[in-house]
Amino acid sequence: TYVVTEACIKCKYMDCVEVCPVDCFYEGDNMVVINPNECIDCGVCEPECPAEAILPDTESGLEKWLELNASLSATW
Ligand code: SF4
Repeated sequence: TYVVTEACIKCKYMDCVEVCPVDCFYEGDNMVVINPNECIDCGVCEPECPAEAILPDTESGLEKWLELNASLSATW
């Protein structure tokens, strides 16, 4: 899955949301997040982010962000 990180806060440029083929972006209070269960790892959103806030979860040190993306995008 891809993960939205700190640089997104208060950016909300939203170009990433438009290009996602499975609409797995969700809006949190001050940033958007990706639902890890719905993301198909296509990578299309990554270059669209002007803040370079979107990273693949294969990068190290993203545990906290992965957790935040999962909790803010949880649908129940
Ligand atoms: Fe959507 Fe693809 Fe980005 Fe996942 S990697 S959030 S499926 S655009």
